[in-house]
Amino acid sequence: MIIVVGSGIIGSWVAYKLALEGEEVFVIDQSPNPGDGISGRNSGVLHSGIYYDSNSLKSKFCFKGYEISIPFFQKNKIPFSICGKVITTGLSDSIEEENEKIKSIESLYQNGKDFGIEKIELKKEPYKQWKHVLGSTALWIPKTGVVDASYYIKALWRLCEDLGVQFLKNKKVKIQDSSVIAIDLSTNQKEEIQADTYINAGGLYSDELAIDSGLSEYEIRPNKGEYFRLRSQLPKPILVYPLPMKSSTALGVHYTFHLGGDAYAGPNSNWATSKEDYQFQTPRHQYFESLKKILDFYSEDDLIEGYVGLRPRLFNKGDAVKDFVIHKESNWIHLLGIESPGLTSAPAIAEEVVRQL
Ligand SMILES: Cc1cc2nc3c(=O)[nH]c(=O)nc-3n(C[C@H](O)[C@H](O)[C@H](O)COP(=O)(O)OP(=O)(O)OC[C@H]3O[C@@H](n4cnc5c(N)ncnc54)[C@H](O)[C@@H]3O)c2cc1C
Repeated sequence: MIIVVGSGIIGSWVAYKLALEGEEVFVIDQSPNPGDGISGRNSGVLHSGIYYDSNSLKSKFCFKGYEISIPFFQKNKIPFSICGKVITTGLSDSIEEENEKIKSIESLYQNGKDFGIEKIELKKEPYKQWKHVLGSTALWIPKTGVVDASYYIKALWRLCEDLGVQFLKNKKVKIQDSSVIAIDLSTNQKEEIQADTYINAGGLYSDELAIDSGLSEYEIRPNKGEYFRLRSQLPKPILVYPLPMKSSTALGVHYTFHLGGDAYAGPNSNWATSKEDYQFQTPRHQYFESLKKILDFYSEDDLIEGYVGLRPRLFNKGDAVKDFVIHKESNWIHLLGIESPGLTSAPAIAEEVVRQL
């Protein structure tokens, strides 16, 4: 028997893959509303994999995850669209900044070519093709899209249940005196649970179980990404991004849309005060400064507070870890620091867990 802690996109994919292998699987989640963790609060973007170091797990799993995801969506009728993405240099405050951005976008383009990402193009004067996109130079990546993340996770749960996976919610898993226990959060009752293997897919809280099982070097610090809803979508359904931030793994405030019709700007990047800190903190006028550097379609009044997502930023003995971590320790597999592109990578991460088992 295998217990998966966490029913977000990662735990659900792991459970699905294990059930396909004929394993008896239980998925336990502390939330009374599973799916409202990181997996329910992201951009829903299927990434091409252009950003990540070629030797990283992020790179490997993003490419593979994308290839597994598309036929999976088609087969299971999960709404998605490969609409393509524009990364633009945007407006610059000085010639030096502009020159720096041109170098960065050229090197990103080269990355994409080296990785063999199909049909990418570097374009001058992007506004000629995409009317409201600002900046002198843009990178067009057709192999990027959006998925209805909420529909996706629910479809995965249904497939799991069809294979006999049992979901238990409102129960927090802890390790106490070498025993694994589940605490019912409505009655406070504790129950010891025994399995052959445990998978820690606890997202923001995965460091707590890792620490409980002796891996005291890991720590997750929540990093906040705020999304503002936009009054309307762009005339053309494409994703528009700035160049990624140099100081962090965040990709910068971008334009994205949900397949239901909503459009969003987001997410920015600030440290949260806790793993439950979903408060808006950036004033609208300040936020608009980022958006207006890449698009001239919106005014400040078009921005309405939307939702907040928290990135599970991983640290090892105080040093930032930029990659996903899969740590196998006795009968536990810990999945740590699964931030973006975790939604795209989820099926490939699950395949790796099955391989390691
Ligand atoms: C702002 C933002 C934007 C993003 N955009 C993208 C994007 O566009 N494309 C992309 O590919 N990726 C994106 N990502 C990354 C992606 O959303 C995540 O990598 C992915 O959703 C992580 O899923 P998860 O299952 O690990 O975590 P979660 O969805 O948070 O699931 C973890 C679950 O574990 C449960 N849990 C935790 N501890 C315990 C415990 N002890 N006992 C019981 N239950 C427990 C929690 O309740 C939770 O439900 C983004 C992330 C953020 C924050």
